[in-house]
Amino acid sequence: KLAQPTIAGGATAAELADLDRRHLIRSMPNGAVTERVVIVRGEGCTVWDADDNELLDAAGGGVWHSPIGHGRRDMAEIAAAQMSRIEFFTSLYEFSNDQAIRLAARLAQLAPEGIERVAFSSGGSEAVETAIKAARLYHHRRGEPDRTWILARHYAFHGATYGSGTATGFPPMQFGVGPNLPHVEKLSPPYLYRADQLYPDQDPTDFLIAELEETIARIGAGNIAAMLGEPVMAGAGVLAPPADYWPRVREVLSRHGILLIADEVVTAPGRLGEWFMSDKLGMQPDMITMAKGIAGGYAPLGATLMRDEIADALLRDGGFFHGYTFQGHPVACALGLATLDIIEREDLLGNARRIAGWLRSGLAPAVDLPVVGDLRVEGTLAALELISEPVHRTPMGWDQVIAVAFEVRRAHGVIVRPYGSNLVLAPPLVLTEAEARRATAATVEVLRRLHPDGTLAPC
Ligand code: PMP
Repeated sequence: KLAQPTIAGGATAAELADLDRRHLIRSMPNGAVTERVVIVRGEGCTVWDADDNELLDAAGGGVWHSPIGHGRRDMAEIAAAQMSRIEFFTSLYEFSNDQAIRLAARLAQLAPEGIERVAFSSGGSEAVETAIKAARLYHHRRGEPDRTWILARHYAFHGATYGSGTATGFPPMQFGVGPNLPHVEKLSPPYLYRADQLYPDQDPTDFLIAELEETIARIGAGNIAAMLGEPVMAGAGVLAPPADYWPRVREVLSRHGILLIADEVVTAPGRLGEWFMSDKLGMQPDMITMAKGIAGGYAPLGATLMRDEIADALLRDGGFFHGYTFQGHPVACALGLATLDIIEREDLLGNARRIAGWLRSGLAPAVDLPVVGDLRVEGTLAALELISEPVHRTPMGWDQVIAVAFEVRRAHGVIVRPYGSNLVLAPPLVLTEAEARRATAATVEVLRRLHPDGTLAPC
């Protein structure tokens, strides 16, 4: 065995990267991900690597999970105070804890009308898993055990566990690990940039609603438990639906007794300038999943929020045999409460809306470039869909988009993320106007050097 310098501390970035290659399993890999950027500290929207290089985080901590910025002393003090009171005691069985109770009550206060109850977990996949099980068990307890099918959408991301991973519309998640969860059906996403290709000569919502109705007729309404959908599809490349989409989906589902689960793991709290985007878009969800930014990124935390009627059905007839050891962890929940307080106190919903304007104006010069097919900005999420030719708008390859993101970091010290053919910015909600200007200018500068064949001209 080789000596491991990091265990004693003080290793260089190169040494850490080497140990990373040897010992860490990299999730969601891609052939082109050859680099290791070892982040060791942060403050606000700035992070530093192990060689003390400064980087501007325009990706919300990398996976759009950081609303309140990095390295906050107030959050560290809250965690330390809770740990010195008690770090953790189970909240299963007869036990509970003050922080989980307070956070559940606060979420119920902020959530859309009718959503009152909360089941905690440690992340988004677990929260989605809870929602899928809750939907099936709800129908079972009400005497409709055949309602087992889950409707989801192509290109959606819902998680990496078997249930959430099967609902995810990204085939590599399911490849080679089957059999996946049975009874999951995928619908078309609302993808307005490609409306003429996906739903030719039709109103997009009309097409999507007809497809939903046909799918329900084919599977049988009495066999379907729930539909799962992000209000705005984040990982798919920031796809916002037409205004009439969710109200019409809701109407169809209600007519057929099918539950609607809003996956707000990315969008709540506050990322799009609203506490909950499902509320704004008229989804009227029966359940909501949250994770990522719910505790500011300072601790892993997930939550599945639901209507009383669903919670009551789960808890009767012997109870809900589904729980995670660390659900309701008091340190995570205390940090969750603090995150919500900070969002309120620092007017981060307002800032999220201001950020939308800065992203839109800063990225506007890229729209006319031949490699940019579409610019989509929703709150603090921005996606530039890159194309390799203008006629069919062929999506740029993921490897090329990865190279573009790397170049934005290398040439300008700004972190943006590649998602398929999309280059995505999703900064913390505390981003300043000057930081927005720097992030967008860096992105536009590199895109100006990108050829449709995916090669980059030198600086
Ligand atoms: N839902 C959505 C919408 C997500 O984007 C993600 C993660 N990207 C998840 C669920 C899964 O969350 P986690 O990675 O915390 O398990």
